Amino acid sequence: MSVPESLAANPAQLATDPAALIASAEAHGAHNYHPLPVVIASARGAWVTDVTGRRYLDLLAGYSALNFGHGHPRLIAEARAQLTRLTLTSRAFHHERFAPFVSQLAALCGMDMVLPMNTGAEAVETAIKTARKWGYRVRGVPEGKARIVVAANNFHGRTTTLVGFSTDPDAYRDHGPFTPGFTVVPFGDLAAMEAALDGGGDGGPDGDEGTVVAVLLEPIQGEAGVIVPPPGYLPGVRRLTAERGVLLMADEIQSGLGRTGRTFACEHEGVVPDVYILGKALGGGVLPVSAVVSSAEVLGVQRPGEHGSTFGGNPLACAVGLEVVTMLREGEIQARAARLGERLHDELAKLVELGALTEVRGRGLWAGLDLAPGLGSGRDVALRLLERGLLVKDTHGATLRIAPPLVIEEEDLAWALAQLREVLLG
Ligand SMILES: *Cc1c(COP(=O)(O)O)cnc(C)c1O
Repeated sequence: MSVPESLAANPAQLATDPAALIASAEAHGAHNYHPLPVVIASARGAWVTDVTGRRYLDLLAGYSALNFGHGHPRLIAEARAQLTRLTLTSRAFHHERFAPFVSQLAALCGMDMVLPMNTGAEAVETAIKTARKWGYRVRGVPEGKARIVVAANNFHGRTTTLVGFSTDPDAYRDHGPFTPGFTVVPFGDLAAMEAALDGGGDGGPDGDEGTVVAVLLEPIQGEAGVIVPPPGYLPGVRRLTAERGVLLMADEIQSGLGRTGRTFACEHEGVVPDVYILGKALGGGVLPVSAVVSSAEVLGVQRPGEHGSTFGGNPLACAVGLEVVTMLREGEIQARAARLGERLHDELAKLVELGALTEVRGRGLWAGLDLAPGLGSGRDVALRLLERGLLVKDTHGATLRIAPPLVIEEEDLAWALAQLREVLLG
């Protein structure tokens, strides 16, 4: 095979020429994403700088992995100190950063135990394996019969098991065959949840036999377009699951850790799940850190050799994760998200009144905006905002998602909303 021309190109030129970098990315990176045409070189707080020196305000925050912004001084200081001290031991040995991280994260969640992993998908997989094992060992469910109820339009990650119960054809098409044992119900429909818990399933291809051991839900569905369930839904699911001895597992990977103005989105409805699934912001935007957090009864079913990860709970991850937990226990970031979130939603409500948006959903510094017909696709609008120095991401055609770093300055948020207003109102 010949060396592709883009590989032979002058590396110094590649490094500063966005068109050349994008062409090379297209040629040699798989096309599983369709990035906006900006090439980022550095960032601080809510602002990023591209390879040409142009600045943009980040309104996506790495899908909430960057809740604390880019390069937060406290997180970078912890990471730097740990980098030169100890980065990896494997879990074959204890290391000094593990106990502080798991004990403080358990305390933040009001739970007993933590099982650390790396990516969000791994944490969801861990929760599923744990719920099944709990079903067999604690509930006495016959082997192979544990069933888990999930919601339509869910997003829990990209493994074959997780996309197997996705209802988005882009996610599951051509990736099967899939893991059986999941029942899909409409999100926000308590009667459908009750029917699924009492044995009526979705009539899906795997027959719906078995015993429900857990319900797995995003308290607010992020990738679906920031879908907030009707008031009373989450408490209703909590009551139905508690009555039946079924675990409620909240995937707070995107909704949790300050985004909605509380530590967890479940808190807005006074709901405490049996299992929290965390990721994204837990790594402080520095490295992937995820975790399953639960009671000793549930996580206690995992015994040596039965589940694990080479990198899960490594010293660097624990050092950064502990500082994230420490900041969350101080509570300022949640208060800030709540305060700025009110401003965001007040301004977006005006754009609904003016007819530029058909609907706005969300909580705290998190919003899904449905564009009025005639404004173009979500990507068209994202490209127009990019020209004005704003980074936003479209989802599902005509929906935009706004989720800035929670450290964004109030005047920067106001500036962003003014730009959005001008783009949408022309
Ligand atoms: C992003 C996300 C995941 C998957 O996390 P990865 O780190 O990308 O594997 C799972 N659940 C929810 C709700 C998410 O937003």
